[in-house]
Amino acid sequence: MYVKSAVLMTAFVTSYLALLFVVTTWWQAVPIAAFLGLVLAGIGFNIGHDGGHNGYSEKGWINKIAAMSFDLIGGSSFQWHWKHGVFHHTYVNISGHDTDIETGILGRLSPQQPRYWFHRFQHIYLWPLYGMLAMKWQIFDDWNDIIRGRIGEHKVRRPRGKDLFIFVAGKLVAYTFMFVIPMLLHPVLSVLGLYVVAMFCMGVAMSVVFQLAHVVEDAEFPMPVGDTNKMENAWAVHQIETTVDFARDSKICSWLMGGLNFQIEHHLFPKICHINYPEMSKVVEQTCKEFGVRFSEHKTFRSGVASHYRWLKKMGQPEVTPAM
Ligand SMILES: [Zn+2]
Repeated sequence: MYVKSAVLMTAFVTSYLALLFVVTTWWQAVPIAAFLGLVLAGIGFNIGHDGGHNGYSEKGWINKIAAMSFDLIGGSSFQWHWKHGVFHHTYVNISGHDTDIETGILGRLSPQQPRYWFHRFQHIYLWPLYGMLAMKWQIFDDWNDIIRGRIGEHKVRRPRGKDLFIFVAGKLVAYTFMFVIPMLLHPVLSVLGLYVVAMFCMGVAMSVVFQLAHVVEDAEFPMPVGDTNKMENAWAVHQIETTVDFARDSKICSWLMGGLNFQIEHHLFPKICHINYPEMSKVVEQTCKEFGVRFSEHKTFRSGVASHYRWLKKMGQPEVTPAM
């Protein structure tokens, strides 16, 4: 984990400095900005995600620093803890409760979400919109959620003291790296253009990797039984049946995506560092077999993407929910 963190941080600093001081033409700058965006996504997957789940280290303060890499890449470790660590992990794929499957009116990701006529085309237009999500997150969502004191339908206490300091300082540091320093050295429009390129790549990478785990054909979207506010399945069964692994045999995917191709294992054991997931996966799969719980996976990243595409298409069709 430490070697991986060092490699990612070195890639981040090198590509950032190259953009600031080395490149002189747009055709050099655009691919480096795209690479920088993907590196930032990698920092979020590998360092921020594990740190935020207390899975990076046995020491709390190291996890805290690792989680703060979300602030470095323009997000907020405080908001992420609630949105992802609490609401997504507790209420996986339960509409109205899992804030990670709420994309607003433009996307219908679960059968319980209302369908509008334009969802018919969502399997085409959502992909570029995924690219906008990182920018929206950095500039709008975190501030909006804090001002409202809510994330989705959930009330969340506003950050105070140290948390508030990290939130504000994190945003200021990120904005300084993204806009202020580059604009002191380069034309404003070039900086904004390269910001969009980098964040578009980061947004697509982050969205697609998370969608492949939960928003595919094999994932369940269960709801509470009647008015009981209780789920039919036990917690662990719910986590497994709402989640799908992908590309478990790919060392490249596992390294780059912070073990997020092993989301079943991650959802069962979020506090265990992701480098252990490939070994754990064999035990989890075997245990699922023994207890008759469905263990779903896509053999490759590509087949996961294809399944997400088909699910989006299915959710956009009117016949899926005839009652509506
Ligand atoms: Zn997680």
